[in-house]
Amino acid sequence: MSKKIIIGNWKMNPLSPKQAENLFRSILKAIPYKLKANVIICPPAIYLGFLKTKNYKLKVNLGAQDAFYEESGAYTGEISAEMLYYIGARYVILGHSERRSPPSAPSGGGEGESNLIINKKVRASLSAGLVPILCVGEKERDESHQYLNFIKKQIEECLKGVIKSSVSKIIIAYEPIWAIGKNAQRAAVPKEFLEMSIFIKKVLSDKFGAKAVEKTKIIYGGSVNPKNTADFLMEGETDGFLVGRDSLDPKKFREIIKICEA
Ligand code: PEP
Repeated sequence: MSKKIIIGNWKMNPLSPKQAENLFRSILKAIPYKLKANVIICPPAIYLGFLKTKNYKLKVNLGAQDAFYEESGAYTGEISAEMLYYIGARYVILGHSERRSPPSAPSGGGEGESNLIINKKVRASLSAGLVPILCVGEKERDESHQYLNFIKKQIEECLKGVIKSSVSKIIIAYEPIWAIGKNAQRAAVPKEFLEMSIFIKKVLSDKFGAKAVEKTKIIYGGSVNPKNTADFLMEGETDGFLVGRDSLDPKKFREIIKICEA
């Protein structure tokens, strides 16, 4: 069985470096020394540098939550993929729904990122040596299955120009927006994920060829918790998880990791 990937997206939490250090330490303390799973913690970028120094015994990997597509220059407020690499990140979440949504949307504060912008970020991240964790997901499901075309378009546009040999490095996180965060309508069920991951693999194979995408990992995100982890692994056959809220709770996060390792 292949190594499961468990990604903790801390979002804009916690508030202070001390709290970030404490949270990081309790996660490291809570997990067994020899991890079989690939655990990736994505804190706010401002904490990456010093958390790297606390990552004793290199139990986990570090990732960023976004990266800009230019290497350097007059781009006030941006952080490039190269900078993130230098500071210790090896992964980067791209195209999260909270960044795709326009600032006025109820899901709040995003930059309204388009597939075009995300595509530039994917390619820049690959060039910088970061593994992109590309988030895709529909806002709602309709009976005529238009949401499948929506996902197809997200994948095709976000991966435009990516060379075949890079596709196996990319992680695709299927995160249906209706299943994410505290306003989630409900969590997805494993069967819904399984169907979607088969569909995503098909879209990828049509674009890059079956051989090139054999090793591409497809993971699930949206209200993942210790209670639904096993079902997504067994019935959903997921390669791993992108965890929001429960990644801020060391006990629950450890439980999720433990189930993935079992
Ligand atoms: C997310 O926002 O990426 C996410 C999966 O959040 P949660 O686990 O809190 O639903």
